[in-house]
Amino acid sequence: MLTQYHIEIMLTSLGERFSARAMSAITYANVNQDRMSGQFGHDEFHFDNNAFEKTYVYIEDQRALVISSLTAGDAITAWQAFGRFLHSTQDFYAHSNYITLWTNRFDGQTLPPPPEVDPMDPSLINSPDLRSGKVYYPFEFLYFFRKTRAFSLRYLPKDSHAWMNLDSPEQGGFKFDYAMQAAIKRTVIEFDKTTKGFSEEMCRLFLDK
Ligand SMILES: [Zn+2]
Repeated sequence: MLTQYHIEIMLTSLGERFSARAMSAITYANVNQDRMSGQFGHDEFHFDNNAFEKTYVYIEDQRALVISSLTAGDAITAWQAFGRFLHSTQDFYAHSNYITLWTNRFDGQTLPPPPEVDPMDPSLINSPDLRSGKVYYPFEFLYFFRKTRAFSLRYLPKDSHAWMNLDSPEQGGFKFDYAMQAAIKRTVIEFDKTTKGFSEEMCRLFLDK
């Protein structure tokens, strides 16, 4: 997803829960995953290239770092790790066909509005049809630049990140709103999962309130 949408997801889902200082650190670490050096060779940052297992391992490693850092009294490292793995969970809805599989279920019926999207349907998360966009170099590189985007799309196959992504309303069409709502709900689920079992002191440190 584009940076502005990661920020919107963060503020909508968690803005009220953390102090402004904590929220800034978490959000910065989140959007920093899209830095140039994080774009290449890091499928686990963005759920790209069907690297599902690698991404789930990355998420749990980062979650474990949140907990060990807070136990050691280091809130900053915890915020950064939390922001990093939330980026992956948010990109899941923009880079995989999860939203397409979910909306396809309503073929011929009225589609429920975006806030009703289920972000964690186990039969879709574990579906053999679940895919995420493949990154084909060098054409995918040209896709990143507005001027060469249309040119790159002529050469990229339909299972590429370039064709599949719902990173913005421009690319995602009506599915973009579903990706946003799913990412917002998923972020709250990840917050609850991470903080479950926190001591009072860990909560105070993490939320910084
Ligand atoms: Zn990303």
